[in-house]
Amino acid sequence: MPSLQPLEQLVKALSRLPTVGRRSAERMAHKIMEQRDSILPGLILALTEARNRLTFCSRCGSMTLTERNPCAICQDDQRDAVICVVEDAAAVIAIEQAGGYRGRYHVLGGRLSPMAGTGPGELRVRALRERLVSEQVREVCIALNTDVESDATAHYLAGELAGLDVRITRLAFGLPAGSGIEFTDALTLSRAIRARAPLDE
Ligand SMILES: [Zn+2]
Repeated sequence: MPSLQPLEQLVKALSRLPTVGRRSAERMAHKIMEQRDSILPGLILALTEARNRLTFCSRCGSMTLTERNPCAICQDDQRDAVICVVEDAAAVIAIEQAGGYRGRYHVLGGRLSPMAGTGPGELRVRALRERLVSEQVREVCIALNTDVESDATAHYLAGELAGLDVRITRLAFGLPAGSGIEFTDALTLSRAIRARAPLDE
């Protein structure tokens, strides 16, 4: 049987997505082709629209419409003079959807990772420093993940911003809502104890 080069190309493209291995990519490719009349037109349209109409904000790095750059959050004068530093644009959407935060954002675009070859030069730190001055920011809240590389990145950032007239905070660590203490991992529990707060907060 001659090789089906377009199929192989589709499988390869799909397998580049996160959490999709070769096997899943093959299943997806076959599904797409089996139901090509119902799946393909919508998929092609959505991909084309995403390519043409979405981009990343030139100021904060979060995702925005191409015709709205800087993004709506950056252009909102009512936002507090706080910048929440996150690893990627997906974190901005998660925090916005959670509600309760009325500041701005800055996407670092990664975390320090010697294994992946990500050094300080790959992160958008200089742009952050420039924003602190131009936007008269009074607080930077570091909202990175809790793994070792993110911790190292948070410490690096704190060092880079030390000496500037800005308060540096980080997300509090708490227990997952609706979960019991006995089901919480030791690291989360020890951090929650260290970050304990008065009962009336
Ligand atoms: Zn923005």
